[in-house]
Amino acid sequence: MATSIDRVCDCLQVLDSLSGRIEMAQELGIFLKILDNSERAPFVYLVQGQLAPPFRGGETGMSTKLVLRAIGLAVEETGISLTVSPEKKLEELGDMGNLAEHLFSGRHGKSVPFLEVFRTLENLALRGGEGSQEEKVRSLANLFLSLSPLSSRYVARFVVGKLRLGVGDATIIDALAQWQGGKTAKTPIENGYNLCSDLGRIATLLGEDGLEGVRKLRPSPGFPIRMALCERLSSGEEIFDKIGSCAVESKYDGFRCQVHSDGNRVQIFSRNLEETTLMFPEIVEGTRALLGNRKAIFEGEALGYNAETGGYHPFQVTITRKRKHNVKEKSGEVPLKMLVFDLMYLDGENWLDVPFLDRRRKIESLFPTHTFSVEEEETAPVGVFGTSRLIIAEHPSTIDLFFDEVLEEGFEGIIAKRKEGTYTAGSRNFNWIKLKRSYKDTLSDTLDLVIIGFYRGKGQRTRLGIGAILTAAYDKELDRFVSIARIGSGLTESQWVELREMLEETVLSEKPHSVLTDIAPDYWVEPKFVVQVRADDITRSPQHMCGRRDTKEGYALRFPRMTGEPRADKNPLDATTVLEIEDLFQKQKNLLARHRLPSDKVPKK
Ligand code: ATP
Repeated sequence: MATSIDRVCDCLQVLDSLSGRIEMAQELGIFLKILDNSERAPFVYLVQGQLAPPFRGGETGMSTKLVLRAIGLAVEETGISLTVSPEKKLEELGDMGNLAEHLFSGRHGKSVPFLEVFRTLENLALRGGEGSQEEKVRSLANLFLSLSPLSSRYVARFVVGKLRLGVGDATIIDALAQWQGGKTAKTPIENGYNLCSDLGRIATLLGEDGLEGVRKLRPSPGFPIRMALCERLSSGEEIFDKIGSCAVESKYDGFRCQVHSDGNRVQIFSRNLEETTLMFPEIVEGTRALLGNRKAIFEGEALGYNAETGGYHPFQVTITRKRKHNVKEKSGEVPLKMLVFDLMYLDGENWLDVPFLDRRRKIESLFPTHTFSVEEEETAPVGVFGTSRLIIAEHPSTIDLFFDEVLEEGFEGIIAKRKEGTYTAGSRNFNWIKLKRSYKDTLSDTLDLVIIGFYRGKGQRTRLGIGAILTAAYDKELDRFVSIARIGSGLTESQWVELREMLEETVLSEKPHSVLTDIAPDYWVEPKFVVQVRADDITRSPQHMCGRRDTKEGYALRFPRMTGEPRADKNPLDATTVLEIEDLFQKQKNLLARHRLPSDKVPKK
């Protein structure tokens, strides 16, 4: 029997009242079990605050103003008389959901099927063009007229993009595992998710065929594969000790592009699995020209090409290609070259588990390759595509030599790859090891932290309206953002103002479920923006929640500063994790121990 929207919203209300991840997963797991299979994917997307998997970008696209108009229209039709306008009441209640629930209180809904509501919301998102706003307002008003007060609360929050249940992907995976019998189900579910990035699809497959359904999943064009990531080490010797003779590539600082060709359509996905196809037409055309109607999924780094030098632009120039408007003009100014470094799928065959050097051989047979010896300077390929520069290191010193060469040429560092390593979707492990200049100097790599709040400026900063931000790392185990640093430097005045304007759009009236901290900033914001942060060291501190367990102190940063504005290519879930911070802290301790002077050499004051 079809599940009603009221039943679904009862579940959302329970989730809202829970703060622990385990209880949330349990509640979700029980609910997933009772749903009809056709309802499972929509329900999963709804809980994610979306209408489709995040890489398809399914939001209803309605502003607060339009939703207020829809509520106003529905109120008018019910004949309820208001003493204050919906706008004023919204200011007082601070939340669109509470407003809708308040205005429609006392009404009985019509027990509308959940799927019917979901389709109406999908239609709202699809409508565009002239007169579409009026139609959207009308359609949403009609929807409100059929809903109970509680369902109005959640539908209103959903359409303004503020459902905020604090249920992250990790919690949904736990819930799916719970439904499928518990902990042992988690690994196949995670593996399936890593191959398609679509938890709704996973839920449907589980409903159809249980765990066998997800075990049968293979890469398929159109579904981004969650990206393989690097571990870090601090020298050629450490790398060699870990993985022995290995392939070593230049680490390019551009956009990671995962290109999908289904033989007809070409799509590109970014590091955080957003579709970026329209931004990079030369890669789309290049793929068509090179692969024709072959099906493939491959990955590489796209870099701005500097025709004057025959080399690449720095990241600050390449990033100007990340735009939705005037793409054509900009691609004339800063054309892209793409250096392919991995292959995951070709003509129906899964290449993920093929040893790296065999994958590389295949890449070299598909894409134009030009090779350089260690001492030779790297130049850009003639056409759009080339392959990443690669050497084989049989000795630690070759790695260090190559590292010094690439730095001299202005690249970021190197990535060493295990020769027989598979492509481990969605995981950070020692199949790929990065070595950047920063770890050689101070060992502190930059961190990617999520902004969870901000402070009003004091003194000179008063006129900027912002003095510092509160940031958090991601605790994967808890599926929560845990505070690690208050940061008040690194940006220019105009960048601070821009940042404040961005943050103001996402201000919340209280600390969101997904955040853990004892510190209260002047304003909470949705944990949405990721900033790159440099610091002198990681220290232990009782102040922050990051890494705090039982009686143990947490971690904090000494002299943290932002390296620039928020990174568009990172999702909050891509932020540096607590485990990585623990690991960096350990490395820092080892380095300090190594560099400590023997006592007889301590300089006398
Ligand atoms: P960073 O913040 O250091 O760029 P990241 O968090 O995006 O790193 P990492 O796993 O640390 O991801 O590093 C891998 C990144 O390096 C990839 O996302 C890719 O964009 C980039 N890259 C550049 N050159 C290569 C290469 N030859 N092989 C693989 N990845 C490369």
